[in-house]
Amino acid sequence: MLIVQKFGGTSVGDLERIQNVANRVSASVKEGNDVVVVVSAMSGETNKLVGYAQHFSKNPAAPEMDMLLSAGERVTASLLSIALQEMGHNATAMTGRKAGIVTDIHHTKARIERIDPSVMQAALKKGQIIVVAGFQGVNAEGDVTTLGRGGSDLSAVAIAGALHADLCEIYTDVSGIYTTDPRIEPKAKKLEKISYEEMLELASLGAKVLQNRSVEMAKKLNVNLVTRTSFSNEEGTLITQEENIMEAPLVSGIALDRNQARISLMGVKDRPGIASDIFNKLATAEVNVDMIIQNKAHDGATNIDFTVPVGDLNDAKEIVDGFVKDGEINADSYNEDICKVSVVGIGMRSHTGVAARAFSTMADNNININMISTSEIKVSMVIDEKYAELAVRGLHDAYELDK
Ligand code: ASP
Ligand code: MG
Repeated sequence: MLIVQKFGGTSVGDLERIQNVANRVSASVKEGNDVVVVVSAMSGETNKLVGYAQHFSKNPAAPEMDMLLSAGERVTASLLSIALQEMGHNATAMTGRKAGIVTDIHHTKARIERIDPSVMQAALKKGQIIVVAGFQGVNAEGDVTTLGRGGSDLSAVAIAGALHADLCEIYTDVSGIYTTDPRIEPKAKKLEKISYEEMLELASLGAKVLQNRSVEMAKKLNVNLVTRTSFSNEEGTLITQEENIMEAPLVSGIALDRNQARISLMGVKDRPGIASDIFNKLATAEVNVDMIIQNKAHDGATNIDFTVPVGDLNDAKEIVDGFVKDGEINADSYNEDICKVSVVGIGMRSHTGVAARAFSTMADNNININMISTSEIKVSMVIDEKYAELAVRGLHDAYELDK
């Protein structure tokens, strides 16, 4: 098998851990696999470099920042390659540029445009273990670029796609994706497999494990992703195409998003184009609107409620207040003490009653549902934040996710 193994900052956090990673890579090679390793900077290293730059400037130039930050990953890649060589392996360290990673011109948040895998392929043919510095590429001008914080996951997935690897393993200090946050529900179980779509909907459960952008890229390039821990031999969670999951459970997981705020617009003028005006303004300001509900009120006006991430609330307020001033909306109000619980599962596509069971669970626990939205594989409910944990546990039980 050709495996891409990506090790995050904590997995390469000190020299002993880098040796551990070398041992693991070595074991995988001895099993007969071809291995391409992608590494992050040692944990804390990127922040340290950012701090150095800020010592000199509040607003350091992006090309210099990229040259600076890309160094963190180079350190790890070189050290790991040296450790592997010392163990008798034929290893070679590569920068993003040498690995053929070509990005657009946007320094500090570049997008990978293409990968020319020929140098890596030639190295693999020679039986070499390749150790790539993650998080970086090169733009058309020949400058080093970085892919945005956490971007070495993306490097790994893109390389796995370009090499048509059988597997892309993402090693962190978390052992996989759980049915819900184990800190809320200790009975949470680690999932063996989950589809890309479910993983994207369960983002909050994978937040510390995987970047959403990486899951999207894996889906697009059809890369089988495994998240697992580098601190034990425990199996992780496979994130793959729906077709590869034979018996999809009705529900795979319960996600909780505490980071939501609700905006209520009362007495919105009932005229064609008003929703378009409001939500286009919000979109232009890059406010991320999630759920939207519109009700008909009396007197030819309507009420509209919607949710945004707490961080976007101030921008949203400003825009909405503008409509109030112009007399297009009577009044607005805000509530930050809400959260969104979501029940996610591809099994919902072919089964009925999933949403009804979620609502009964809320009823049984005396939790009032403020807003509801559903998609083919998800039922989301906005509730008061104080019921967040009760709701998650109740739902986890209701769908028997501990079984
Ligand atoms: N070292 C970079 C960061 O800390 C990239 C990564 O770790 O994925 O954001
Ligand atoms: Mg990371």
